[in-house]
Amino acid sequence: MAETEATRLWRPCARLTWRAEDAPSTLVALCGDFTRCGSAGLRSLLISLDAARATLALLVDDADAAERALAAAGLRHLVWRLLRDESQPLAAVARLARGFRRVLFVGAAAALPPHERIERGATWSLDAEGTRLVGWPAALLDDETFADVQFLFPPPAAPRFVPHAALALAADPTQAWGVVAVVQTAAALPTPRFSEPPPREPGAVRFVCVSDTHARTPAELPEGDVLLHAGDFSMTGKPEELQAFLDWFASQPHRRKIVIAGNHDLTLDEASYGKTYSRFHRTKYDTKSCRALFDRAAGVEYLCDSGTLVDGVTVWGSPWQPEFCGWAFNLPRGEQIRERWQQIPTGTDVVVTHGPALGHGDLGASGLRAGCVDLLDELQTRVRPRFHVCGHIHEGYGVTTDGRTTFLNASTCDLRYKPENKPLVYDIVPKDLSDSG
Ligand SMILES: [Zn+2]
Repeated sequence: MAETEATRLWRPCARLTWRAEDAPSTLVALCGDFTRCGSAGLRSLLISLDAARATLALLVDDADAAERALAAAGLRHLVWRLLRDESQPLAAVARLARGFRRVLFVGAAAALPPHERIERGATWSLDAEGTRLVGWPAALLDDETFADVQFLFPPPAAPRFVPHAALALAADPTQAWGVVAVVQTAAALPTPRFSEPPPREPGAVRFVCVSDTHARTPAELPEGDVLLHAGDFSMTGKPEELQAFLDWFASQPHRRKIVIAGNHDLTLDEASYGKTYSRFHRTKYDTKSCRALFDRAAGVEYLCDSGTLVDGVTVWGSPWQPEFCGWAFNLPRGEQIRERWQQIPTGTDVVVTHGPALGHGDLGASGLRAGCVDLLDELQTRVRPRFHVCGHIHEGYGVTTDGRTTFLNASTCDLRYKPENKPLVYDIVPKDLSDSG
């Protein structure tokens, strides 16, 4: 089949060329039996379409169920029309499609007359203006399909809150996420968007993020203004490890180099080192001189519940994570760890913590979550950063969004401590620049 603009739309997410700006000129036709797909998938699709201010035509077997789904999704912008009992659904869509540049069709082949059966990605010209129809057979109409479709549109509406019941479950993050996930999403974004970044936006500050390098160094770092390390640069924080890291880090060409500690960087946590050293070190190192290495490293900024400013972009760094086998910078979940998160200034652009927030880059290989619900709550209800960067859970490497903040788990090492994961890169246009257009 010849490649057309419409067929390109349904290629895998990383290669999509269509942009959200195109949504208002597109009619989306949903057709078929929606009981076949998960209601969460349909709901998130509807929310995405709503955020894109799309126009939707529904040709469904169960009109009442469709109306209930639309009502439950709490939509504000979506223009939609329910086509009941249509004998010629294609023709009905074609009539509605006049005035739109194109039609995206997500539908069940069984709902169409036999001679109009469609294949995944098949396209038709519906009229002389070149309006196109993209087919999507019923067998493929599942949550995964919807996950693809979501990337055509802006991320879901911003989260409103973390339910109280989830905060009460802080000690069991897997269960806590089960409660949070009822009212908000953590949508995965394609990693290549961040590991193979496009040319920089004019006026933007480019951040290059790594984490959990554990005394290994990534082969090559992308260019950028800021090099950010989210902790665990050593195995156990021995002075020679710290020095080797600092020699490598300080030699990078990035204008600004910002780092926080992680649970492995034992000698940087004076308060816990008295207890941890005997498990890992033959001699007890002097924590003050370990810390002083960072002050002496040229151009390296060490953040520890503190912030810095990069060309108008505010950055805050904090090494803490919920208790994790008695390592450095551990704190009990709940009130004690929340006190640290309460120090993050409201409106900070980039928050860097060693551990992940609940639901974002925190899923361990065991299938259990390790993220901090108190951190998620502070970030969502008060701080509202543009980016959150973490590491700690190596297998959680990747990027997610809650609709407002982009969450990056930049763990460089994989579970076997091999530096396999690429640095993650993002651009921020400073607020005063973006406000003035
Ligand atoms: Zn680590």
